[in-house]
Order: sequence, then structure tokens, then C-alpha cells
Amino acid sequence: MNKKSLKYKWLRLSTLIISVTYLIFSSMLIYFTSIYLKDQEYRSVDRSIEELESLYETQPINTISQDEVYSSLYDRQKMILYTQGGEEVFSATTGIPMKLDIDFEAVSEREIKESEIDQEDFLIGSTKIDSQYWDGYISVIHPLNSYNSVIRMMMFIATVVGFMSILFTSVISYFFSNRMVRPIRKIANQLKRIEEQGFSERLKITTNSEETDYMIDSFNHLMDSLEQSYNQQKQFVEDASHELRTPLQIIQGHLKLISRWGKHKPEVLDESLGISIDELRRINKLVEELLILTKNEGKPDMNMEKVDINEEVRSRVESMRKLHSNYTFTLDLEEEPIKYMINPYHLEQILVIFLDNAIKYDKDRCHIMITTEMKEDHFDIVIMDHGIGIPEKEIEAIFDRFYRVDKSRSREMGGNGLGLSIAKKLIESYRGNVWLESEEGQFTKVTIRFYMKK
Ligand code: ADP
Repeated sequence: MNKKSLKYKWLRLSTLIISVTYLIFSSMLIYFTSIYLKDQEYRSVDRSIEELESLYETQPINTISQDEVYSSLYDRQKMILYTQGGEEVFSATTGIPMKLDIDFEAVSEREIKESEIDQEDFLIGSTKIDSQYWDGYISVIHPLNSYNSVIRMMMFIATVVGFMSILFTSVISYFFSNRMVRPIRKIANQLKRIEEQGFSERLKITTNSEETDYMIDSFNHLMDSLEQSYNQQKQFVEDASHELRTPLQIIQGHLKLISRWGKHKPEVLDESLGISIDELRRINKLVEELLILTKNEGKPDMNMEKVDINEEVRSRVESMRKLHSNYTFTLDLEEEPIKYMINPYHLEQILVIFLDNAIKYDKDRCHIMITTEMKEDHFDIVIMDHGIGIPEKEIEAIFDRFYRVDKSRSREMGGNGLGLSIAKKLIESYRGNVWLESEEGQFTKVTIRFYMKK
């Protein structure tokens, strides 16, 4: 990978921005100054010509003194007086005398143009004089040396200052970018350490900028939740293996019995086979429930349909009634049908889990009440038994995977502690809620709440 470092990118970008800005700024400055200065040069030529013009138009040529001519000229200008035919009659130079060969040009009105003579720039202004005193032409030659040297000097200064400022910006940005990427480097180094040392490590640095501190904070939070979920998964696998181990050990023990005694003692064979089949059934159930718990996270359910909740509750209770004829089931259902979009198989699973528990843990009074109630934006299904109840301090943990109040008792009844967590997961997948109220030896009341979708 040929990726440039952040520091280098920042350096390149800032230098580029400064250079381009400076180039635009100094070019514009030089350009507008040169326009202004050249305009000044034109004006001075124009003024000289005008003064000379009025001098030669108002006086006879022999009465005009040298001083009068000089006073019309600016420093380092040269004037030439021509006859009508272009013959040079008189010339005067202020400052150092100039030996210049310029071609005579007969002009009809005043004009100023730029010209290059002997590799030097000049402005040449000419005009025609047509008066009673003189009939001919006047030219004023105005050197552009000082204008050129001002512009050249400006360009020189701009270049030097430009180079210096680019150098200066590069050095400053180099140090600045170094400072900026330092916390990122620090974080990267620590991350490498975390990678080597494992999950429980956290970033233990603070930087001098808000953004990177926020980054560190977010990373640590992310690591917290990753660690938590990793530990949960680990716990889940440990619990699941543990649950599987008991029935597998039982089966193993009975298979050993069969291999040793089974051929001679048919009663051992019968009993051990029966127990092994029971345990295998338990394993099967456990595996199926584990699959339900880990399946379909976050995926939309394709089998939803509008289900009449009352109908479904009624039919579930009917089949329970047939299986457990010694139980009293009291139904108090909402009069109006409650229609809800749900996968009917999920609803059935949920009802069966809670009804099964109610039956399992209410062996004495055998009285189960089922209620449905419709409210403005939600409806409740309440299943209440009058059995052993759940100790108050256990209620909170009751929905955890594999959690059982009385492990051996639950196992005796074929339970593995997954029922409630499956039901909760299913209910929550429809954004519903479930909670449990109980009093030991009195009752257990489960409320399932689903919200009507708008
Ligand atoms: P299990 O398969 O053990 O019934 P559940 O997840 O369905 O697993 O229930 C977890 C535990 O919650 C049970 O072991 C039991 O101790 C307790 N429990 C659940 N429902 C009831 C209830 N209606 N009455 C008393 N205890 C209950």
C-alpha cells in the first residue's frame, strides 16, 4: 500500500493553499500597481506635450528660451521640434543627454505610444503644431526605466517574500501536523498493545484535543460492550455445554449398564433404554431451543399475518384443557377481536411457554386465569397461576438463559431454564414487553404487552 501519511497530506495541502493564495495576491498587486504607475507615466508625457504645444503655438520660436522649454519637461525627458517635412530643428533633454534615433512620424493629432529603442522602453508622445508661429511637429521621449525598475523590484521582493513565506508555512505546518498526528500515533500504539494483551485492556491516555479524547472514550465504550457481549456468549456456550453434559453422562452410564448386564437381564435393558430415550429427547429439546435463541437476530420475519389474539388464546387454552383436565382455566377475554400482525407460530410458542410454566408450578390449586385487555395503543395478555410463586429476589434474573429457581425441580419437570428467555426474545422482536409479578406460595402473574403499530 502506497498511502501518504496524514502529516504529509496536511503539509502538502497547507503549502499549496498558501502558495496559490500568495501567487494570486502578489500578481494582482503587481498588476494593478503597474497599471497605475504606467498611467502616471502617460500623464506626465501628456502634460509635457501640452505645455510645449501651447509654448510653440503662442510665441515665435526665436523668443522661446531654453529654460522655458526645460520647465515644460519632466526629469529625463527629451523633446524634439520638427518642421512640416520632418526635419529636426531643435531638441532639448533634461538630465543626462540622450542620444536616441527615433523615426519621425507625421501625426494628425496628439498621440502617445510605447516603443523600444536600443533594448530600452520609452513612451513617445507626438503632436502636430499648426499656428502662426510654427508649422511642424513636436515629440517628447519619456524613458520608462524608473517604471520598469519599480516593477522589477516589486517582482523581486514578491518572489523573495513568497519563497520565505512558503518555507515558513511549511516549517510551521510540519510542526503543527506533527502535533496533530501525535495523539493518533499514541492511540495506534496503544491499540497494538491491546491487540496483543487482549479484550480487557482499555485506552488509558488523554490527548490535548477534544476530538481524539472523544475517540478514545468511544473506543473504550465499544470495548466495554464487546467484552460484555463476548462474556455473555462465553457464558452461554459454557451453560449450554453444561446442560448437555448431564443427559450425555446419564446416557453413557446406561449404555455401559446395557453392555455389561443388558444381554442377561432384560429388565436392566428395558429400564436403561427407556431412560436413555428420555434423555435423548431432553437433548433434542435443548438443541432446538438453543437454535431458536441464536437464530434470526435482526432479520425481518417473512411469515407474519394478522392474527386474532383472542382466538389464538382460546384455542391454546382449549388444547391445554384437554391435556390437563384436573386444571381450572378461567378465561376473561376482551370482547372486541384484537388483530395483530405476528408470526402465528411465535404467538403459539409464547403462549405455550407461559401456560406450560403455569401448569408446571401450580400443582396444588390448579387454577389458571387468562385475560386479554385492549387499551388505546397496546393490548395485554395476562396469565396468572396460583402455584408456588417466585422468591422476590429471583424475579429479576428469571428471564436469563438457563436460570432456574430450583434446578433439580425444574429438571424433574423436563425444564432447562430456556423457556422464559425464548419467550422474552420473541416478544421483544415485536417490540413488545413482558414482566412478571409474584408472591411466594400465592401466585405468579405474567403480563405480555404488544403495542399496536401505527
Ligand atoms: P424451565 O424450563 O425451567 O421452566 P423457564 O425459563 O421457563 O425454564 O423458567 C425459568 C424458571 O422460572 C423456572 O425454572 C422456575 O423456577 C421459574 N418459573 C417460571 N414460571 C414460573 C411460574 N409460573 N411459577 C413459579 N416459578 C416459575
